[in-house]
Amino acid sequence: MSDIIQLLPDHVANQIAAGEVVQRPASVVKELLENAIDAQATHIKLIIKEAGKTLIQVIDDGIGMSVTDARLSFERHATSKIKSAEDLFELNTKGFRGEALASIAAIAHVELKTKQEKDEVGTEIKIEGSEVVAQEICVTPKGTAISVKNLFYNIPARRNFLKSNAVELRHIIDEFHRVAMAHPTLKFDMYHNGSEVFNLPLSNNRQRIVNIFGGKTNEKLVPVKEETDLVTISGFVGKPEYAKRSRGEQFFFVNDRFIKSPYLNHAVNAAFEGLLKDKAHPSYFIYLQVDPRSVDINIHPTKTEIKFEDEHALYAMLRSTIKHSLGQFNVAPVLDFNRDSSMDTPYEYKSKMAKTPTIEVDRSFNPFKEEKITGSNTSSKSYTSFKKESTGSWENLYVGLESEMETTKPKENDFSSVEFESEEVTGSIFENEEKTTANHTTYQLQRKYIVTTIKSGMVIVNQHRAHQRIVYEELLRGITMASAVSQQLLFPLKLSFSKKEIALLETVKEQLENTGFIFGEQRLGEIEITGIPAVATEKEVSVLLEQLINDLENEVPDSGFSQTDLLAKSMARSIAVRTGVELAPEQQQYMVNSLFACTEPTITPDNKPTFITLTVDEIDKKF
Ligand code: ADP
Ligand code: MG
Repeated sequence: MSDIIQLLPDHVANQIAAGEVVQRPASVVKELLENAIDAQATHIKLIIKEAGKTLIQVIDDGIGMSVTDARLSFERHATSKIKSAEDLFELNTKGFRGEALASIAAIAHVELKTKQEKDEVGTEIKIEGSEVVAQEICVTPKGTAISVKNLFYNIPARRNFLKSNAVELRHIIDEFHRVAMAHPTLKFDMYHNGSEVFNLPLSNNRQRIVNIFGGKTNEKLVPVKEETDLVTISGFVGKPEYAKRSRGEQFFFVNDRFIKSPYLNHAVNAAFEGLLKDKAHPSYFIYLQVDPRSVDINIHPTKTEIKFEDEHALYAMLRSTIKHSLGQFNVAPVLDFNRDSSMDTPYEYKSKMAKTPTIEVDRSFNPFKEEKITGSNTSSKSYTSFKKESTGSWENLYVGLESEMETTKPKENDFSSVEFESEEVTGSIFENEEKTTANHTTYQLQRKYIVTTIKSGMVIVNQHRAHQRIVYEELLRGITMASAVSQQLLFPLKLSFSKKEIALLETVKEQLENTGFIFGEQRLGEIEITGIPAVATEKEVSVLLEQLINDLENEVPDSGFSQTDLLAKSMARSIAVRTGVELAPEQQQYMVNSLFACTEPTITPDNKPTFITLTVDEIDKKF
């Protein structure tokens, strides 16, 4: 057999290698910003169109390149930053692999304009799919401007893999944040589709963080500082009371490079131990300066993972430094004593040992007293939240019904509950609800379960789970039929979010509106909300949106449907009445009836059982 091995042509090799460096537009942004920083720029401008799919341009005022260097910069392994392998251990630059420009040029249309200070004129080079198509002399200011157009134009599979503009823009903003936060003494601007997204002036670390995450961030920050032979730690942690459900604001920088480190993240969490509510994540912006020889940043092509020589010492130091800061700034004690304990019920409840359920009988309870009350209503109006303090809204719900019932039907009689008991139990336990539920009794057990009887025995409904199912189906109906009911707020709610969070919410704005949200003006990291879904209360809106952001961040849904589903699930989880909330009898009945009016009453949106049944046979066996 003849020889079959051949060397891949350069442009093919480059395309393959590009896959490692360039996953999405945000990867290009990162590489170009880092090159500008390595070129000692003081002002860096990022211009994006269509979330980077059509244009990514970075303009810097750095040292520029000579004609030869400009041409060479697109060759693989062409770098001015290291000369030998030893240099790898003394790195002071972001780049060193000499791969970024070669990779980008293999999969996009690239235009470079560059000029060094000493030169009269600059160089302009155009490259398409690794081929130089033009090289000219040009007039351009000192520094370098690179535009990357039509990313992945020659790899359709990759291009098709890109997510929606909103998602890709989010990734770009993430990279921009990371680079800008690592270099507060440089000026950064960012434009998207012609409008300014960020304009970050020269500043210090604190101002830079505030400029990025919004004015309200300032009061949340606790400074962290420590200097040892091994490491200099500086930066900030967020006060525990501002800890979020989303992990969004967690940043480590090592020698001005953003890195990911689950190990160090653990150290920060350990410092916060006992100060955070369940599922809350502290914000942190930690800057570590270490001897470049003590780290290895060569282990990952995008260089976000690094290896420390003495990880354990670093862990211990970071933890104790943060602990110390939290103590020094009196953050810990304030939290302990100023807590509103009434807010804590669900958490306390959680840690308690479960008691053996006991049935408490209210001897004064007369099931026939409220004979006009029926729970069969499943109109959207009836889904008003359970958490409203007064039962007024509940009564209101039934007012209309009462008269309706009276005119359309004979008065329910005392036998209805008996009838109910004698009903055949089929797939839907409450099939004949109008007749059967008017008078039947429910009990709330341990502020967690609703117990009611059926012919064959009893049903035990988990109130939180059942309500999740009810709200979930209601929201889905609202979204798909655009029929949700809104509550107008007397005073608009103003909630602040970071730009990234706002970008994330934008991706589901339409669905949110279909659940009943009405958005007003949006400016300076603040969203104004003038109407909220009828199923939610004003108090829970901010937690609801935070949880939603968190869920959207962790699961990037691909299709419109799964996004709607994720949104409905997330909101239902936030809105559903918690364990520990006492429900009035009519609320209990409403819950049971609405649950069994659902399309899939047996499980929560996350497939957990919503109720169990206990038959008389099973009870008999226990005696
Ligand atoms: P690396 O950054 O790893 O060296 P790149 O492919 O990103 O590799 O860049 C190749 C070379 O091109 C760099 O080493 C640098 O000399 C030059 N270069 C890239 N971008 C710029 C810029 N914005 N200004 C000046 N020189 C640049
Ligand atoms: Mg580079």
